[in-house]
Amino acid sequence: MIIKLITTNIENLKMSKKRCPHCKKYNQTKDTLKVNISFFCNIDCATSYAFKNKEKGRKIKHAKQKKEFQANDTKLRKKAAVMACHAYIRARDVNNGCITCGAPLTDVKFDAGHFFKSTNSYTKFMEKNIHGQCVSCNQYNGGREREYEHALIEKYGEITVKALKKLRTKKITRTASDYLEIEKYFKSKLNDINKNTN
Ligand SMILES: [Zn+2]
Ligand SMILES: [Zn+2]
Repeated sequence: MIIKLITTNIENLKMSKKRCPHCKKYNQTKDTLKVNISFFCNIDCATSYAFKNKEKGRKIKHAKQKKEFQANDTKLRKKAAVMACHAYIRARDVNNGCITCGAPLTDVKFDAGHFFKSTNSYTKFMEKNIHGQCVSCNQYNGGREREYEHALIEKYGEITVKALKKLRTKKITRTASDYLEIEKYFKSKLNDINKNTN
């Protein structure tokens, strides 16, 4: 009985049959409803199929639009750039100790502390302007500007610090794609560190 059933099914498949793309049933070609290149059971299958695909198309389009929107959203891109920048600075400086008091930064939460405040647009992402800094120095002691400057001179020399100072008041307006570039730049630098430490 079972064997007979299987044979019959195979026999059926061998005949001129078409599979309905909606419900996956096989139908005799002559009984199908042909729309474009598809053979449906009936108008209901054809309609449901078209609707489902329209939904799918709409979802894909929506996801694409959302992605494009996020890529062009300046606020969002700025946030992502800042996060990438700070993540890199933390990884770079974790073993250096706090820039202003020298406290060890391993095993504690610490900041990426700016010498010139992060509101100064031009120096905002400059690597020589940002260093690992303990929370106490950065958040409760105003960044310890004097100690910070001293440490920068020690680290990079007086000329570099003087040059950096000239850039403090310079302003720059960045677009979403500028921020995206910055984000990518710091992410790749962080990757390099991770590659070398693993
Ligand atoms: Zn069908
Ligand atoms: Zn400190």
